Amino acid sequence: MKRVYIDLDGVLADFEKGRKNHPLGNQTPYKGRPDRLPGLFKDLEPIKGSIGAVNKLLNNPNFDVYFLSTAPWDNPDAWTHKRLWIANHFDEKLIRKRLILCHHKNFLKGDFLIDDRKWNGAQDFEGEWIEFGGQQFPDWESVMNRLESF
Ligand SMILES: [Mg+2]
Repeated sequence: MKRVYIDLDGVLADFEKGRKNHPLGNQTPYKGRPDRLPGLFKDLEPIKGSIGAVNKLLNNPNFDVYFLSTAPWDNPDAWTHKRLWIANHFDEKLIRKRLILCHHKNFLKGDFLIDDRKWNGAQDFEGEWIEFGGQQFPDWESVMNRLESF
């Protein structure tokens, strides 16, 4: 069984779109600090193909799936909203106690990390870092091809 960690923002949840559409996005003190926008993380739209792909992984006995996200330290509500976001989009039975919020992703033991950015330990992850949105893995289709070929 392969353990897979999946980032939320920019991988499952469309942070960029939420940031652009947020009514306070261009106001002080949120300009340049979108991670502090009130309620931003609660209602983010899913990224294309992400929900179906993750449901496939969650239902595949070859994979042990966890959500691994960094929640902004200065926006404590975001920690709750991330928990609610996955509950909104996935079957409770499949995701219960599978959310890890952490600033040190390299501390986690596993085979794959799907993450769009190298920060918060992603680039030092001990397994394979699948750089979502990069040249090799631009979308969920390419990620699933990689995982299912393993
Ligand atoms: Mg991300």
